[in-house]
Amino acid sequence: MPDVTALPAPGPDAAPRHPSGYRGRFAPSPTGDLHFGSLLAAFGSWLLARAADGEWWVRIEDLDPPREVAGATARQLATLRAFGLETDAPVVRQSDRHALYQAALDRLLDSGAAFECHCSRSELAASGGIHRRCIARRRRDRPAIRLRVPDGSVVVFDDAIQGPQRQDVATEVGDFVLRRADGFWAYQLAVVVDDAAQAISHVVRGADLLDSTPRQILLQRALGLQTPAYAHLPLVVDAQGRKLSKSDAALPVEAADPLPALRRAWIVLGHDPAALAGASDVPAVLAAARSAFDPSRIPRTLPAPAVATIVDTDMASTHPDAMIGAGPPGRG
Ligand SMILES: [Zn+2]
Repeated sequence: MPDVTALPAPGPDAAPRHPSGYRGRFAPSPTGDLHFGSLLAAFGSWLLARAADGEWWVRIEDLDPPREVAGATARQLATLRAFGLETDAPVVRQSDRHALYQAALDRLLDSGAAFECHCSRSELAASGGIHRRCIARRRRDRPAIRLRVPDGSVVVFDDAIQGPQRQDVATEVGDFVLRRADGFWAYQLAVVVDDAAQAISHVVRGADLLDSTPRQILLQRALGLQTPAYAHLPLVVDAQGRKLSKSDAALPVEAADPLPALRRAWIVLGHDPAALAGASDVPAVLAAARSAFDPSRIPRTLPAPAVATIVDTDMASTHPDAMIGAGPPGRG
């Protein structure tokens, strides 16, 4: 029998929260160097944590080895340090936490909330990939494990930046994967287990993850976990409206020269560059940003051409060689 007390896990990462009650996090995946979109998520989540007099933790989401780039974790952490964004607790790596995910999965299987699925991608193509019941014609050696999403599973939540959200998870997403047929943990399960085990109170990340949030809330309910508050930062897109991390503009931020990117992120977060004008080093910029920061100024969306201009001016023109090989870390 799995240990039903395994979640949330008492342990080094479940330290009591700061007296403010606020604990935020930044959770990049080591799929490349930090790019401007990931810096925005790091800086935005850090500012919101500091504005609430709370903590800010860094977690490495390294559960997808085929997508990982050797050395990326160390470079991402070095870049965060160069930007003055220091974690308030030891960095946790998801690759060290398989037992926690397994315990959660066992609980869901035991309660009947999760089930083995032998359906193939091609079998689900007719329903647009949405799984409502198993239609597999043959058993696979290694089935996937899915969460059963009953009819009427409508999740409503209020995002601090994006406003009221609603998703009918049953019809729009269907029964979703918790452990993939290739044996890897699904992002949705790992992030829910870790946010609970680390007692994260506020999840601040890019709006590309907004449509994952209802699945995570359903999983929290199935596991009897608290739901944190959510704030999804506006997505940085290029002039063609493509998500930055998928476009040529996904250039690494320059750890050796952090001030231009910090100033750009400040503007993209809806703030007046004059507030940072007198600051000439990273500690001074962060101190000025903390004192002038106003969460209500963060925009829901960004006008693509304006952002492309802000991003391209300093990055594309000065680092044309960096256009190659940029990955999409900062998944959240
Ligand atoms: Zn199935």
